[in-house]
Amino acid sequence: MGIDEDFNEYYGISPDHPRYDGNFDEARGISRDRTGPRYNNPEGMAKRIKAGLPGYSLVDYAFKDAAGTVEYPHDGTYGLNQGYYRWTGLGQTKLPPGIEPWDAPPEEVNKVITKAAKYFGAVDVGFCKMDKRFVYTRSSNKDIVFEDVDKPYVTDEKAVIPEKCGNVIVILVPMEFTENSYAPTPLEVTSNMGYARMHFTAGTLAEMIRGLGYNAIPMGNDTAFSVPLAIKAGLGHLSRNGRLINWKYGQLTRIAKIFTDMPVKPAEKMAPKGIIEYCEICTRCADECPSKSVPYGPRTTSNPKYPNLNPGALKWYNDEGSCSEYWKEVGTGCSICLRCCDFVKPQGIEHDLVKWFIRNVPQFNRFWAWSDRKLGYGKMQDPREYWDIPIERHRN
Ligand code: SF4
Ligand code: SF4
Repeated sequence: MGIDEDFNEYYGISPDHPRYDGNFDEARGISRDRTGPRYNNPEGMAKRIKAGLPGYSLVDYAFKDAAGTVEYPHDGTYGLNQGYYRWTGLGQTKLPPGIEPWDAPPEEVNKVITKAAKYFGAVDVGFCKMDKRFVYTRSSNKDIVFEDVDKPYVTDEKAVIPEKCGNVIVILVPMEFTENSYAPTPLEVTSNMGYARMHFTAGTLAEMIRGLGYNAIPMGNDTAFSVPLAIKAGLGHLSRNGRLINWKYGQLTRIAKIFTDMPVKPAEKMAPKGIIEYCEICTRCADECPSKSVPYGPRTTSNPKYPNLNPGALKWYNDEGSCSEYWKEVGTGCSICLRCCDFVKPQGIEHDLVKWFIRNVPQFNRFWAWSDRKLGYGKMQDPREYWDIPIERHRN
């Protein structure tokens, strides 16, 4: 069975699964273009700073907000075709006159692009064929269309992807275990840092690809779904709380993508199975979600609360509406379900051993889930101690 058939069967998706309008988030009732009410408004910040809540000091807030500088420039330039995510390039690299585009076998292309992406900030990179089912119909108030053109272009009405851009490079950037452990306070700075790393890394890699003579359309969460493309690139599987779990980094990554006509070698199979099977017996994210937004029970093919919200895949449908309400209550993007996940650990041989068992001897899964709680993993760290702890940097 090829990767397409395996993916369709494992995630219960039909080959003609319809594309989705990414312009409006029905569950959250807000535009994805950040024009709706925000959870991190200045009045709420001031209230929490004055109350002296641990992890909510002026320093902590400034730290978190600053980490998002590259992704959220606050000048209205967020979204599709903005900043380093420009579709037509920044002019930093160029193919010199009389020089042909780089011509190399796909395996060589994968090797070079993977190394460059990791140098620019990625921890893992995957490759897959374009799957239009996961490209939004609309984003940033523009129709996203495919046309037989040589170069991508964007007008006020539409964003045009050349049909020949049939390959996708999926880039995972890191999130730090330590900072993630302070969720839901603003000291969970690593989400913002992850978005900034996505923007920098994908934008820089796209510029390199253009310098090699090819089109490169870099993106964050705009333009296309990230998780299905990451799965098809062999980088992991979809968890109960709706995120990618990578066998090495767990949920501690964020995902950027580049559409390109460069001849890459797509993944021939998905990542080893075992993650969904583990989530089937582990409900810790559902147990610990303060707004009860993560479902219990088996995967379903539609969202029980929002049946029209992108149904048709076999997965766990989170209640993004109640999740969003909790974000407003806590004044951050929460992330408790990431912090407590059994797949969120520092790197270590003992954790690799457990993951080997999860992949190969699933009969022990209930024991691992039980022991994870008994050993105290996934608890929130004390924000009052954060600034006294020396910074840790993990080489990957
Ligand atoms: S981010 Fe928080 S509120 Fe939202 S699903 Fe995760 S734990 Fe629940
Ligand atoms: S906490 Fe458990 S059920 Fe939730 S995503 Fe992690 S492994 Fe899966």
